[in-house]
Amino acid sequence: MLRQARQRLAALPGTSLVRASGLYLTAPVGGPEQEDYLNQVVELRTALAPQELLASINRIEAELGRERLVRWGPRSIDVDILWYDGSSIGEADLEVPHPRMEERRFVLEPLAELAPDLVLPSGRTARDALAGLRGQTVKRITESRGERPDKPSPPQSRGPKMDHSAMQAEIRRLAKEKGAVILAHNYQRPEVQDVADFVGDSLGLSRKAAATTANMTVFCGVHFMAETAAILAPDRPVILPDEEAGCPMADMVDVEGLEELKAEHPGAFVVSYVNTSAAVKAISDICCTSANAVNIIRSVPKDKEIIFTPDRNLGSWAAQQAGRWLIVWPGFCPTHGLIGVDDVEEAKAAHPNAKVVVHPECESDVVALADAVESTSGMIRFCRKDDAKQYLIGTELGMIYRLEKDLPGKRFYPLTQLAVCPNMKLITLDKVLKALQVEGPVVTVEEEIRVKALRAVQRMVEVEA
Ligand code: SF4
Repeated sequence: MLRQARQRLAALPGTSLVRASGLYLTAPVGGPEQEDYLNQVVELRTALAPQELLASINRIEAELGRERLVRWGPRSIDVDILWYDGSSIGEADLEVPHPRMEERRFVLEPLAELAPDLVLPSGRTARDALAGLRGQTVKRITESRGERPDKPSPPQSRGPKMDHSAMQAEIRRLAKEKGAVILAHNYQRPEVQDVADFVGDSLGLSRKAAATTANMTVFCGVHFMAETAAILAPDRPVILPDEEAGCPMADMVDVEGLEELKAEHPGAFVVSYVNTSAAVKAISDICCTSANAVNIIRSVPKDKEIIFTPDRNLGSWAAQQAGRWLIVWPGFCPTHGLIGVDDVEEAKAAHPNAKVVVHPECESDVVALADAVESTSGMIRFCRKDDAKQYLIGTELGMIYRLEKDLPGKRFYPLTQLAVCPNMKLITLDKVLKALQVEGPVVTVEEEIRVKALRAVQRMVEVEA
């Protein structure tokens, strides 16, 4: 039930699941009629207002047939902590505004699993507070990926923290020693972009991954990107510094659903955005990125029907540009979905001389207001050639750093500060360092799927932007 609830929460509009702890079984505390509880802490990023989120949670519980057997409280899936400023529980020194958190090991333990350094109202960290709660019985029974021992690990000493430049120097030293190439997407944190050998968009990074002769690739991006690198270069390990870094849009299309759609349109040509799993790529005819989607659609013979997955916004925009009709899967990017028409209007009023440049993953009403619609690499090319001095950028916030670095003579403003992809931001310098030290986690693709997916991916890297 918790797993289904989690999936449904992540599918709410404007909502994505950032991370989830393992499941914890606990004895009842406070007199409920159930014999025991299952607990899990999830971190969500949502554009929903608190009341909308609570209403959605109640609806999900009702849909899943959850019976209210407890004697207190209106809900059994709780929203206990809300931050309104785009914070993430992984951030150092973030304070928890919930005063009773420290009394309950069944809440504190999964929370400490996700963010041991969170600061509680008493000033203690979650890890330190947990050490004082050993009397309550809690048993860890699963975790979101892989298995762990039931017993919580003893509190670890934090040790002295390295600053960014020391960590970057150590990462570069280790990468050289191990013959690793570090690739980073344009949406990565600035300090991660700075430590990479190459920074780029999905198409550019896929080409780098295919061409590299390095011993291993450290991919600072999200899971489908590392998977694509593993499809193209199976002879060297591809390391994703945080294996929880997924892409909610990629999760919106699955093999079963796509097979059903293909059966309804026999003979249709399937174009899948690179933001898909290897298994979906394996049943697609060709992949594309936002940089070459239009050219790829144009290359499909005119007498063929085209199915496009999973991004409805990229699909609709590319169809219009290419002058073709597409059957578009209804997926979308929750992060680009946070950019609204209001943001464009307000930003234009504040910067009347600036041009609006947006990514095609934005909603169509935002795209309609733009001076240019570009992939991230296209944004750099466009702003370099264009003679304006100021731009309003509609894509993930990390792109602002990339543009400012590449084009220091121009000014770039985000259409909204909210467009932060929580998955991209899971990759931090200390995780990159650890990934190099332990040479993992390695992303692999089953050989049978890899070989089938390779056809579609290979065709994608051959088509120009
Ligand atoms: S920005 Fe959107 S499409 Fe890109 S990884 Fe994040 S959720 Fe996926």
